[in-house]
Amino acid sequence: MDGYHLVLLALTFVLGVSIGSFVNVLIFRLRSGSRLTGRSKCMSCGRTLTPWMLIPLFSFCYQRGKCAYCGARIALQYPLVEIILGMLYVVIALVHGYDPLQTSVSQTFFVLGDMVIWTTLLAVTVYDLRHKIIPDSFSLFLAATAGMLLLVKWKLGILPTAYLPFWETMPSWIDLLAGPLVAAPFALLWFFSGGRAMGLGDAKLVWGIAWFLGFAEGISSVILAFWVAFFPSLMLLLLRSKHFTMKSEIPFAPFLVAGAFLAYVFQINILNWTF
Ligand SMILES: [Zn+2]
Repeated sequence: MDGYHLVLLALTFVLGVSIGSFVNVLIFRLRSGSRLTGRSKCMSCGRTLTPWMLIPLFSFCYQRGKCAYCGARIALQYPLVEIILGMLYVVIALVHGYDPLQTSVSQTFFVLGDMVIWTTLLAVTVYDLRHKIIPDSFSLFLAATAGMLLLVKWKLGILPTAYLPFWETMPSWIDLLAGPLVAAPFALLWFFSGGRAMGLGDAKLVWGIAWFLGFAEGISSVILAFWVAFFPSLMLLLLRSKHFTMKSEIPFAPFLVAGAFLAYVFQINILNWTF
């Protein structure tokens, strides 16, 4: 990889880190019910942060993870979310083989679309880990964005060869139904277990993921999620009380997102279905 591509990836990383900083603010203010606009304050002493204290990653390192006024510890979540989103954006650029000088406007559109999707998925993961609930607004935004991207891909795919698709797998009619189809078993599981085996929030999340990945990869992402979740769940099951239920003990969204990540990066089609 030459210097040009390294600089591009570094800029992509910085973009992800900056948006990650916004994700932290979004999660905190959504939970505390405060407005999205307005200056950030220290959660401990309430003093308004100066602009240089808001520089993602850098300020955390420079202040050694503490508030410059009162010395209160800044949660590790803040730099972690920033780093992870930076790395996710780099992965997205690599998955697409993205190069702004050589690729089309439409590919740029889909790279940005994927960034919006993965930003939302990371926000869902962090929110579910912290508060054990997936906000409906996140799931709705995810499904709407994924549905919109799918429609654009589908529309471009049926146009003449001048608009030949640049993605690997063409969306087919079943991909248009992927959202409700893959989410249905989760909704049934929620319904028949009275909400004990699975939250309805998981079904809503799966809807958006399946629309994003398409039917074959969507199904695969769910299967992968259960595989990834198996050992942590077993551990908790053995360690904890008999009142264990998956919903009350383990947030499932992080596993669904991890499954989606594997399916997305490696284009996994476990069942080898073609449509
Ligand atoms: Zn402070």
